Amino acid sequence: MSFSAAIITLFPELFPGPLGASVLGRGMADGLWWLQATQLRDFATDRHRTVDDTPSGGGAGMVLKPDILARAIDTVSPEGDPRPRILMSPRGTPLTQARARQLALGPGAVIVCGRFEGVDQRVIDGRQLEEISIGDYVLAGGEVAAMVLLEAVVRLIPGVLGGPDSHADESFENGLLEYPQYTRPQSFEGLDIPAVLTSGDHGKIARWRAEQSKTLTAVRRPDLLRDRP
Ligand code: SAH
Repeated sequence: MSFSAAIITLFPELFPGPLGASVLGRGMADGLWWLQATQLRDFATDRHRTVDDTPSGGGAGMVLKPDILARAIDTVSPEGDPRPRILMSPRGTPLTQARARQLALGPGAVIVCGRFEGVDQRVIDGRQLEEISIGDYVLAGGEVAAMVLLEAVVRLIPGVLGGPDSHADESFENGLLEYPQYTRPQSFEGLDIPAVLTSGDHGKIARWRAEQSKTLTAVRRPDLLRDRP
């Protein structure tokens, strides 16, 4: 069973977008994962295909109606679907590499993209939507956020980006930021590749990289060191 992503959105034409390019696109073509974007408006019931209404209690903007969204979720993900249901939301739990890895090893995800002021709370509660945020800023809609989530997840699906070791050293995988990377030419604008990296001494290289990772993390993201298991 490959990883399957179902996306509920007012803009299905935005998908797969960047997810169809490069290794992720190749992974899709190889059947390692697939994606289906569903138009929320198709579940509207009135002549105008209305999906939103004004916020109860007043205020600016519009809110996605719970009945329409619930029907879309129930159709895309009927009872017994093992996939987690996710709502992209600035109020959600911040996305982490650990959550991306969990999702990549699971059956897929059903992802709701909000628009306007967001979605009616009753559908979040009633359909047990897991709210995930991609950062402390507000986007105009959940589509780009869903792409960020899926890009982080899909590259971790076994087979998409190479062997099981290919992620081991990356930023966040071990709770640290990655060490600096270099490649040829040996000399660039008067700057040489650090000698240790061309020494051929693998023990020394590993120690240098670990040291660099630690220093970089201490300077840029001391919060990661504090939160380390
Ligand atoms: N009024 C809401 C913001 C709505 S933004 C609030 O203040 O919390 C419209 C939609 O964009 C949201 O429903 C959500 O799906 C998406 N979105 C915006 N910012 C996001 C973020 N940082 N992470 C994930 N989704 C986000």
